[in-house]
Amino acid sequence: MAPLRFDRLYPYDDLCQAVMSLAAQRPDLMTVETIGRSHEGRDVPLATLTNSATGPHDEKPAVWVDANIHATEITGSTAALHLLHRLVTGYGNDERITRALDTRTFYVVPRVNPDGVELALAASPTYLRSSTRKWPRTDEADGLVLEDVDGDGRILTMRLLDPNGAWKVSDADSRLLVPRRPDDPPDGTYYRLLDEGRIRNYDGVLVPYATERRSLDLNRNFPAGWRTQSEQQGAGPFPTSEPEVRVLVDALTARTNVCAYFAYHTYSAVNLRPYDDRPDEKMPAADLRRYKQLGTWGEEITGYKAVSVWHDFRYPNEEAITGAADSWAYDHLGIFGWTTEFWSPLKAAGLTDYHLIEWFETHPIDDDLALLRWSDNELDGQGFVSWYPYEHPQLGPVEIGGWDFFHVWSNAPAKYMEAEIAPHADFAVLHALSTPRLELHSTDVEAVGDGVFRVRVVVHNRGWMATNVTEQAMTRKSVPPIAATITLPDGAALVTGDKRLELGQLAGWSRAVGMLSWTGPTDDTSDRAKAEWTVRAVPGTRVEIEFQHPRAGVIRTEVTL
Ligand SMILES: [Zn+2]
Repeated sequence: MAPLRFDRLYPYDDLCQAVMSLAAQRPDLMTVETIGRSHEGRDVPLATLTNSATGPHDEKPAVWVDANIHATEITGSTAALHLLHRLVTGYGNDERITRALDTRTFYVVPRVNPDGVELALAASPTYLRSSTRKWPRTDEADGLVLEDVDGDGRILTMRLLDPNGAWKVSDADSRLLVPRRPDDPPDGTYYRLLDEGRIRNYDGVLVPYATERRSLDLNRNFPAGWRTQSEQQGAGPFPTSEPEVRVLVDALTARTNVCAYFAYHTYSAVNLRPYDDRPDEKMPAADLRRYKQLGTWGEEITGYKAVSVWHDFRYPNEEAITGAADSWAYDHLGIFGWTTEFWSPLKAAGLTDYHLIEWFETHPIDDDLALLRWSDNELDGQGFVSWYPYEHPQLGPVEIGGWDFFHVWSNAPAKYMEAEIAPHADFAVLHALSTPRLELHSTDVEAVGDGVFRVRVVVHNRGWMATNVTEQAMTRKSVPPIAATITLPDGAALVTGDKRLELGQLAGWSRAVGMLSWTGPTDDTSDRAKAEWTVRAVPGTRVEIEFQHPRAGVIRTEVTL
């Protein structure tokens, strides 16, 4: 098999083949199953990775990664494939990956929305927000529909000379168009800008934008904070109404061992975390502190800042973005949810001091010039395409050009892609190694009478996270306590203690804040729990004991009385 490449966008068949080839390489580490079907009937594959020799996947704490719920953000799928490759090939030669696969599980859905991506990667592309299902209307709307009219595989911008156009050529660079000012001469050269496309039922005069009938946004269709179309465009008729989201929610909630969640998107070069609809002060303080710590490590590993959607990633004119996957993961399940937005042309062009969202509303022209220089020097001028004449079948002579948004903004250009996505595998591995993990601390049997024994088994959480993972999980009652079960052979009987004991939750090392923190360096044994039974049995009897916690794993041991 040819080595996998991480500098390209994978069509569905190629991606499935690549995933299957990795599973075939190490069936002991990776298996692939189908968790459901997309709107158009494509299988949605899920890869499960763990060392099967050290226990089944569902008895180990897990990290979940999915990608490409948005149709054009295909770099996310390449990043998910890179993670799979990194885990499979790193086992046995990378200590952290080896430890992670021996003791934890990864679930990876490399493409949540295969239908939308197929359109984006077609020879004559169509760019949708996400799903291909027509909603809220199924008829076709009149007006401008995006299309690669000149058949060069790109959808760019059309500029038309128009005395009432709102744009003029910039003095700083003749390719750049800037908004026209009120005091500009009335007889100057002005342009109207339209997306490259064709006009459905053109009357020769009016060019309205066709109201997009495929306007679903699958990342607004999750149950937490879901709001109707009247409040939030594209959210669908009800939470999890869309098959891709339903499949994801079903599969994730069925895997109760998942402690951390990543959704891979583009772009902005940032790791986003909840909340998306309220300020940080509303988050349980312990969860916020841990989120911030994980985010700081994430920045060290990936160079991406970690920010709250509410504080730093809110779109203008929108109160909040809700119904997204990462918030659902945190709010309802009580696990650490992230949205990774890969890649930023601004960063690549050397810009450093900008606001993630506001920049797109207003910024100095020097920033535009820096971006143009970057396109010229680093992308052979293919990022911003110089205007070229084209005879449009409906509009007559136009020019086509401008930013190749899909190839340069929505996705990392090939020469940047692998370096951009590679560090994120390490961030996922760090999360895996942060999850709680039950281990046996000590076992003690004491004869307390004639044929009566006290059995004491102590376990501890050897993870950074608490067994409940977050305070939010306790609030939502989404995580059960540790259960300790003793199984006695015939002839043995319990004198004290229930067969099944509930031992609550255990702290992890993340309880340590700092030696000079307000809580100080005190370190009690809140990471430790003991199960105790008194058993009447013939000396030499063997009893089985099991500790079970969905997020912290399973321990089985045997003691001899
Ligand atoms: Zn996205």
